[in-house]
Amino acid sequence: MPRDNVILQCTECKERNYTTTKNKKNTPDRLEFKKYCRRCRTHTVHKENK
Ligand SMILES: [Zn+2]
Repeated sequence: MPRDNVILQCTECKERNYTTTKNKKNTPDRLEFKKYCRRCRTHTVHKENK
């Protein structure tokens, strides 16, 4: 089962705050999470970035 590392990047400041893994076959779409960004000091949308 190939699980790829993905980087979650803040859409506000472009800071790369989180890394995670996903299975491309199960989740072909770009991941999108609302997570805390230290730079923005608030919760922002973080998107997958390769
Ligand atoms: Zn940010």
